[in-house]
Amino acid sequence: MGTTNRRGFLKSVAVGGTAAGAGLAATGLFPRRIYSQGASKFNRVRYRELGSTGCKVTEMGFGVMNNREADLVHAAIDSGINYIDTAHYYMKGENEKIVGSVMKTKRDKVFLTTKVGLRDKTPESIRKEIDLSLKRLQTDRVDLLLFHKSDKREEILNDDTMKVFDDARKKGQTRFVGFSTHNFEPEPFDAGIDSKFWEAILTGYNYFSPPSLTKSIQKTREAGIAIIGMKNLITMTWPPDTRVPYEDIRKDKSTKTTPQQALLKWVLDDNYVDTIIPGMTTFEHLNDNLAVMGMKLTLDDRRIIRRYCEGVKSTYCRGVAGCTECREKCPKGVKVCDINRCLGYAYGYKDLDLAYENYQALPKSNRVDICADCDECAVKCVNGLNLTENIRKARELFA
Ligand code: SF4
Ligand code: SF4
Repeated sequence: MGTTNRRGFLKSVAVGGTAAGAGLAATGLFPRRIYSQGASKFNRVRYRELGSTGCKVTEMGFGVMNNREADLVHAAIDSGINYIDTAHYYMKGENEKIVGSVMKTKRDKVFLTTKVGLRDKTPESIRKEIDLSLKRLQTDRVDLLLFHKSDKREEILNDDTMKVFDDARKKGQTRFVGFSTHNFEPEPFDAGIDSKFWEAILTGYNYFSPPSLTKSIQKTREAGIAIIGMKNLITMTWPPDTRVPYEDIRKDKSTKTTPQQALLKWVLDDNYVDTIIPGMTTFEHLNDNLAVMGMKLTLDDRRIIRRYCEGVKSTYCRGVAGCTECREKCPKGVKVCDINRCLGYAYGYKDLDLAYENYQALPKSNRVDICADCDECAVKCVNGLNLTENIRKARELFA
C-alpha cells in the first residue's frame, strides 16, 4: 500500500473536507435509512442515523483503543470518519489523552464517545471518572457517554447509576448516554429497552455471532436505541504453528477485497447497525476501512469470509461475538472466554499492555492462578479450541 504516514495517506484518498462536520447535523427520525453524500468527491463517506439521537454518523467509526498515533486519528477525521471511540481505562488513560490532543483542533468535526465505570461501578467513582475523562479529552462535553461493560440487568437498571449518567447529561457533560456490553444474551438488550433511559448500546458483533444476537440487535434498534458494533474483525486468540500466517491470508491475491474488509462489510450489511468501530493502527488499515464505506456485501465477499474463517475457527474464541457455550462449565468458576479475550489482545492484536490491562480488570475469581492445579482444562470448547493450551499460554503471560 505504501501509505506509511499521514501526508502520504491524505494524498492517496479523496479527502472529505467538511463532510464530517456536516454529518453531525440533526435530522428527523428515519430508523433504517442509509445516507450517502452522493457527490463523487465524497463518495467514500456514508452516514447512518444513530438511533433516535437525531445525529448522523459515518458507518465506519474509529475504535482508538489500541492506537497510539495521534496522526492516524487526525487522518481518519480529515478523511471523513466522524465517530471516535475511546474509554477511561484504555492505556491507563493515555488513549483519551491521545484523542484529546486531536480534539484540541477537531472537536467540532466528530461525534466523540468515551466509556466510564469499567472497574468501579459506584456513583462516586463514575462521577470522578467523567470529570477526569473530559479533562484528558480536552473538551467540556462528549457526545455519547457509555457505562463500560454492563452485562447484568440489575447493573443496567440500577437507579443510582442512571442518576449519575442523567446528571452528567443535565450538566452538559454528555449529549447522550448508553452502555457497552459483553453479554450476548437478550438480557442487556431487553434491559436497555425496558429502561426507557439508555440511548445507545455498544456490542460485539461479527460473522460468528449467533442468530439470537442479530435478533436482539434488530429489536433494540427498532425500539429506537442506537446500535454500535465492536469486535467486528476476527483475529485468532493465539496462532498455533501449523496455521497459515495471518498476513498471507489477508493478502489474498485472487481478490482486491481483503478478508478484513469482507468481514466489515458483513456487519454493515445489517442495517440495524448504525456504526462500527474497528481498531486501526496503520494508515493501511485506515485506507482499507475507508474503502468499505458504501460497498455492498457480495457473493465473492461471502466466499472470502468462509475461507478466512475456516483458517481461524479453531483458534478464535467466539465469546467476544456471542458464544456462551462454555459459560458456567469450569468447576472453579473461571470464565474461559474472558481469559481468551485477554489472550486475543496479546496474540491477535499483538498489544501486551492492552492484554494486561484487561486481565487486571477481571475479578479475582476469574484469574488463571486458580487453574494452577489443573493438568488439563475440564472445560471443552464446542468450536474446537484447545483450552488446556490456552490456559497454559495465559498462565505464562498473566500468572
Ligand atoms: S465454547 Fe469455545 S468459542 Fe465458545 S466461548 Fe467457549 S471457548 Fe470460546
Ligand atoms: S484449567 Fe481448571 S480452573 Fe482453569 S478454567 Fe480449566 S477447569 Fe477451570
